[in-house]
Amino acid sequence: MAPTEAENPTSPTLTTVIGLEIHCELDTRTKMFCRCLNRFGDPPNTHTCPVCIGMPGALPVMNRQAVDMTIKAGLALNCQVPEFTKWDRKGYYYPDLPKNYQISQYDLPLAREGYLDVPLPGGRTSRIRVRRAHLEEDAGKNVHDLAAHTGVDLNRAGVPLLEIVSEPDIHSVEEVMGYSRSMRRLVRWLGISQANMQMGHMRFEPNISIWVGDGQRIFDESAGYFTPILEIKNLNSFRSLEKTVEWIIDYHRAQIIERGRDWSLEKVGKQNWGYRDDLECCEFQRGKEEAHDYRYFPDPDLAPVRVEAAWRDRIAAEIGELPIARKGRYLAQYQLSDKEADALTEDAPTGDLLDSAVKLGGPVRRVVNLMMGRMMAASNQKGSTLAQLGVSAEALAELAGMMEAGKLSASAADRVMEVLLAEGGKPLDIATRLGVLAVSDASAIEAWVDAAIAANAGPAEQVRTGDKKAKQAFGFLMGAVMKLSGGKAPPAAVKQLLEQKLSPK
Ligand code: ADP
Ligand code: MG
Ligand code: ZN
Repeated sequence: MAPTEAENPTSPTLTTVIGLEIHCELDTRTKMFCRCLNRFGDPPNTHTCPVCIGMPGALPVMNRQAVDMTIKAGLALNCQVPEFTKWDRKGYYYPDLPKNYQISQYDLPLAREGYLDVPLPGGRTSRIRVRRAHLEEDAGKNVHDLAAHTGVDLNRAGVPLLEIVSEPDIHSVEEVMGYSRSMRRLVRWLGISQANMQMGHMRFEPNISIWVGDGQRIFDESAGYFTPILEIKNLNSFRSLEKTVEWIIDYHRAQIIERGRDWSLEKVGKQNWGYRDDLECCEFQRGKEEAHDYRYFPDPDLAPVRVEAAWRDRIAAEIGELPIARKGRYLAQYQLSDKEADALTEDAPTGDLLDSAVKLGGPVRRVVNLMMGRMMAASNQKGSTLAQLGVSAEALAELAGMMEAGKLSASAADRVMEVLLAEGGKPLDIATRLGVLAVSDASAIEAWVDAAIAANAGPAEQVRTGDKKAKQAFGFLMGAVMKLSGGKAPPAAVKQLLEQKLSPK
């Protein structure tokens, strides 16, 4: 039975409101405040020293490369980079950070008040404002897979960590994913982070609430109210981020129906939640009343940082075309599909490889097909970028050119690419060595075509009579010629000959 008016007053509009905090490990050579190497995957506690394990009296020294990288991120995010910034201690008592505080930036971050334009499906764009981007140090890692006890690996303690905090401008799962993926692309593009999810280089913390009321007047208290803000800690994959946001939105909606205005920010406050990968759901961790008192105060061991205009300008000059602009250029100038343009702007060196190959005379379409084909498969397999595969722009341009000139069939090019990927070299030499160079001798090609027609009288007749299966039969004959020639017949010439010989009488 439908509820009456009184039971169900005109249901209010629900607007999802999300602010995202992103932590990103910077790809510096050494740690933030000491000279230990910043390296993932080595045996536990092999990159440690008195500074990063927190021995009393050990003095931190700022890593300028990390500050450079943060300024670069800030500028690329259209932020202000103030002239004066400083370091603060954030009280933090956990075994993975033994000095009992984390060096961070409290009220004077390196960058603030910027934005990122996020491309969305269908050509739409959302501008998400960035509240601040600051630099801090990462904590170590507890190791739980030992037999009798928990260990602590401090190789990660003191690794420079960029934190980017958005304004609550995100209103859907789609926007969260667009924003976080664009951010990953940007930091990779700038060369400031590998942003490798498997290595934990990037972690997300969404703050999620729902505005119940007039969606045009969010934050106007006379027009509605917020549900509690739930902050979900430490998500380290896009999948868990997406699952979490979906789950929390559903949870909020159920609470709104069940508890009405009792489920509000005013009554409940903020809560910290966690994501359970095994159960694909979220769970409550703690409420605001238990929230940490971080007791921030300026770090007496570190001098404040002055970012003079010359310093800022030098870094600004290093920022070239950004990924969104590059993608737009690829769509317009090279006529790539959206998917291709996205894949080839994953990182700057990959885009540069395409541009260089084209500049060297490689036909765009062929170059893109080579990159999106076997090269993409190889990069997925290795977990590397396309550029890291080591295929040079010269080789790519040459191979694409040979295909365009009919000197290599697609399958022959594929075999050459395989060798290029494995050991490098010059495409012409490789093709010669493999014996896959197309035969240009017209009589040889004609002999293969004649042999294929003779061996396949049925399909040949279908083509001749314009049978309804003629097209399929033609393809079959093409394949037969290619097979007979061992892939060495140039497809364009074969096609032309077949058409000639099988034209309706
Ligand atoms: P805190 O200091 O408690 O961490 P902040 O106000 O600094 O809270 O905001 C932290 C994050 O929460 C930011 O990303 C911000 O955009 C987001 N946020 C602020 N208000 C809301 C809201 N009503 N709903 C969802 N997220 C919000
Ligand atoms: Mg927070
Ligand atoms: Zn150290």
